[in-house]
Amino acid sequence: MERSLPVAERPRRPEWMKVRAPSANSRYFDVRALIHGQQLNTICEEARCPNIAECWGRGTATFQILGDTCTRACRYCYVTSGRPEHPPDPLEPLRLAQTAKQMGLKHVVVTSVDRDDLADRGAGHYAATIRALKQRLPEASIEVLTPDFLGCEEEALRTVLAERPEVFNHNIETVRRLHRQMRGAKASYDTALWLLRRAKELADYPVMTKSGIIVGLGETNDEVVETMRDLRANDVDVVTIGQYLQPSAKHATIDRWVHPDEFRWFREQGEALGFGSVFSGPLVRSSYRADEQRHAARAKAL
Ligand code: SF4
Repeated sequence: MERSLPVAERPRRPEWMKVRAPSANSRYFDVRALIHGQQLNTICEEARCPNIAECWGRGTATFQILGDTCTRACRYCYVTSGRPEHPPDPLEPLRLAQTAKQMGLKHVVVTSVDRDDLADRGAGHYAATIRALKQRLPEASIEVLTPDFLGCEEEALRTVLAERPEVFNHNIETVRRLHRQMRGAKASYDTALWLLRRAKELADYPVMTKSGIIVGLGETNDEVVETMRDLRANDVDVVTIGQYLQPSAKHATIDRWVHPDEFRWFREQGEALGFGSVFSGPLVRSSYRADEQRHAARAKAL
């Protein structure tokens, strides 16, 4: 069993991980009021993302559908885990689309908790959300960051891709050696790769695929490059790499603070492997400046 370091021995947060508090003259408080008023969840709040002041201050956020309780318990994740009490809210797609429209989003990112309790693992609710967004915000691009749809992967992929989201994102999260330890027995490194490859094969339009890696969980830098190589071998277009932040004493112990120079090195390695876009930095998250990630990859493809 992994031992938690006593507080005094834990590596201190370095300067480059410091973030600013929300500023009163940014859009942060408007976004917050809108999202809370519509009773929507965001991964920004549920995962205690360090970028919330910046992203909400810019008027963006990442919606989390299918409730606030996840049926998995990944060791790095702060989202509440347990048995969800409610079926999907049929009006959530509409409220989300109206909110995205009010926010004036040009690129809408939608993720969710894992719902292994649902027969379709939540794929139908993703599809309904994309449909509602396309109806109300036809000019916006849509990115879905999905779970692995355990046991009904192919069918769920078909359901989601039939609605033609511009970006299909599924995070591999960590390197092969640590995958089971961090994500539990239900998740699989190879299934994550398969989902990304299969999404491209099934889409009858040029879908962009994307994945993210968290560093600071005990991996080596070479293993990070190996993971990027696996993603490229499965035709993934965009990769994000960011620092793990231990959300509580119960979660996986942070192994190291990865230096900004190492993040730069990851970016160079990723670019050499042929990704359309590599966002690599201490505070980078899968949905961080997702619009810019997409534009960078599109620009490179032209
Ligand atoms: S990086 Fe993503 S999860 Fe974090 S605040 Fe920004 S949009 Fe939300």
